[in-house]
Amino acid sequence: MADPYDILVIGAGPGGYVTAIRAAQLGFKTAVVDREHLGGICLNWGCIPTKALLRSAEIYHYLQHPKDYGLTIEGKVGFDAAAIVKRSRDVSARLSTGVGFLMKKNKIDVIWGEASIEAPGKVTVRPATRSVQGPPAPAPKGALGPGSYQAKHIIIATGARPRVLPGIEPDGKLIWTYFEAMVPPAVPKSLLIMGSGAIGMEFASFYRTLGAQVTVVELLPQILPAEDAEIAAFARKRFEKQGMTIITGAKVTKVEKAENSITATIDDGKGGTRTIAAERLISAVGVVGNIETLGLEKLGVKTDRGTIVTDGLGRTNVPGIYAIGDVAGPPMLAHKAEHEGERCVDAIKGLHAEPLDKNKIPGCTYCHPQIASVGLTEARAKEQGFDIRVGRFPFVGNGKAIALGEPEGLVKTIFDRKTGRLLGAHMVGAEVTELIQGFVIAMNLETTEEELIHTVFPHPTLSEMMHESVLDAYGRVIHV
Ligand SMILES: Cc1cc2nc3c(=O)[nH]c(=O)nc-3n(C[C@H](O)[C@H](O)[C@H](O)COP(=O)(O)OP(=O)(O)OC[C@H]3O[C@@H](n4cnc5c(N)ncnc54)[C@H](O)[C@@H]3O)c2cc1C
Repeated sequence: MADPYDILVIGAGPGGYVTAIRAAQLGFKTAVVDREHLGGICLNWGCIPTKALLRSAEIYHYLQHPKDYGLTIEGKVGFDAAAIVKRSRDVSARLSTGVGFLMKKNKIDVIWGEASIEAPGKVTVRPATRSVQGPPAPAPKGALGPGSYQAKHIIIATGARPRVLPGIEPDGKLIWTYFEAMVPPAVPKSLLIMGSGAIGMEFASFYRTLGAQVTVVELLPQILPAEDAEIAAFARKRFEKQGMTIITGAKVTKVEKAENSITATIDDGKGGTRTIAAERLISAVGVVGNIETLGLEKLGVKTDRGTIVTDGLGRTNVPGIYAIGDVAGPPMLAHKAEHEGERCVDAIKGLHAEPLDKNKIPGCTYCHPQIASVGLTEARAKEQGFDIRVGRFPFVGNGKAIALGEPEGLVKTIFDRKTGRLLGAHMVGAEVTELIQGFVIAMNLETTEEELIHTVFPHPTLSEMMHESVLDAYGRVIHV
């Protein structure tokens, strides 16, 4: 048996590898185990490869409108699906290799294989039997192999996988999850997407831009259900203008397969049904935590609806066993996973650490137009009894947006009328995923309207709309 570690992290996703680095920084002897990829879903099958695909789609979109910018293009603008996918896979591979370097630099042992916990302090690592792409992935250079390992603290960061609806099981050919949707052999002519959260809408945007007929079916009354209703409605109109069909308040109840297509039966929620045929179906109805093969039941670790219950600093009900990231519950986002992990390790070290305030975790969807938000939606703020002031500023009033050729969008801010506290910020339009962090900092610093009003925003930038939205909430808007 190898020497005991202070901290052993199971899972090398953004939660796990960042946790390991923080642990090493604090002087802990640290190891991280993974069964198939450094960087987890985020770097290999989630955040990063989707952004690479969407970038190709975005450039393709602009190339189709050269005249808007005074440009000409000789000949036909086209795309090569295989080359787009290859670029996305190359981006992922490069970053995954980078995580390997970070592990080495921080003197963190990488152990390759499938981990389970025998008892607090004891982990068994077995050879992995498969990977997303079929055969087990080769171990990175220098990784330790299967065996028994000991650690004072075991941090579970095993992430999540696609939720499967009974009767609509992905088959890899006609019914896809995000894994297949990320590496299409060709762009299907028609596509049905179940679920309109961030994952569903990013794929909808990617495939629509490349010419697929896209239908999105959402169970809830609005698309992007976590977002402010006004912002989601604004985005919906833009998607529909791009030619997407969006059906809300409805559900797919049955899928019949033919040789190269599916036919889905949709319950419209009002007593009616209809059928929609498409070449492929993407099931994007959420994710469930990877909790099954870890031995949690035997250890008595408390779980709730597919995720591990923690105290907000990663501690489970079993001393010495912690959980962070997607496997520890929503919001299932890479930046939440990273911060949760860092706080967990700080707390183990005895440093001051507070549970993450989930209200201050931004959410971004990188479709076209982009959506970004932090804090309370207008509806939530009202539900919580706040007397609110709401500010809005449209992209069409912003010089930079017009210069960019991006006049469609909206920035919305919500303040507590009594204290002037910023309760929430919601945006739709070009580059808003790069803007939202300004409001996240403002909320973290408990900034009030007055400080925001007196903050100087550079001109000409899209960020000026953030300022204008605040001014609007207080009856001082300038450019509309
Ligand atoms: C298509 C898509 C797009 C996304 N886009 C975004 C985005 O833009 N922004 C964002 O913030 N989030 C996004 N996400 C979510 C993001 O990917 C996750 O929130 C994030 O990866 C969670 O990190 P994690 O470390 O908790 O888990 P993961 O990244 O899932 O990593 C878990 C790791 O644990 C390993 N593992 C699991 N079980 C074992 C075991 N028993 N033994 C050994 N290893 C094991 C897995 O191989 C994996 O490497 C997206 C997700 C998807 C699917």
